[in-house]
Amino acid sequence: MKLPLIYYGDPILRLKAKPVEEITDEIRQLAKDMIETMHAHRGIGLAAPQVNRSLALFVTFAPKEGEGGQLLSGEERVFINPKLFDPSAATCALNEGCLCLPGIRADVVRPERIVIQYTSLDGQVHREELTGWDARVVMHENDHLHGMLFIDRVSDKDRQVLKPRLIQLKKKLATLSTQLSELPTDEGAEL
Ligand code: ZN
Repeated sequence: MKLPLIYYGDPILRLKAKPVEEITDEIRQLAKDMIETMHAHRGIGLAAPQVNRSLALFVTFAPKEGEGGQLLSGEERVFINPKLFDPSAATCALNEGCLCLPGIRADVVRPERIVIQYTSLDGQVHREELTGWDARVVMHENDHLHGMLFIDRVSDKDRQVLKPRLIQLKKKLATLSTQLSELPTDEGAEL
């Protein structure tokens, strides 16, 4: 079932998400619904707070890079109670967007590599090193579980540029709140 999205300005996006204590049928269903919701919006990642559940859980569909540099479809993944470690000193900038902030995009500098520990839906704990799109999407989604949005990580200069657009977006969202699930997303990767 496709779930309604939460948008910028909603306080749930600023909360620290609670850990998932047990992987119940409800959690399995939530993960399934989040994957469906992510695809419905052509997203490449979605965190539980974005669908009004303050839980430490996100799903991803990070693209893979082909040999010629073209982007190929990735695989659906579910991360429960994730923890990030050992960010690389090397960083890179990438233009990000977010399903909670329609029409807003900005360059965000993040580490190139990160180690993640997480629980999968079968209850197993895993630890793996991620690079490229996998690392980028996981870091963006993990921020959602700590009440952070990509706009908090932009340069001071970009923040000044974004400021009036964010105020405008908040106003627009307040008046359109009932029709929002059908808002078109921008071109490019939404997380
Ligand atoms: Zn996001």
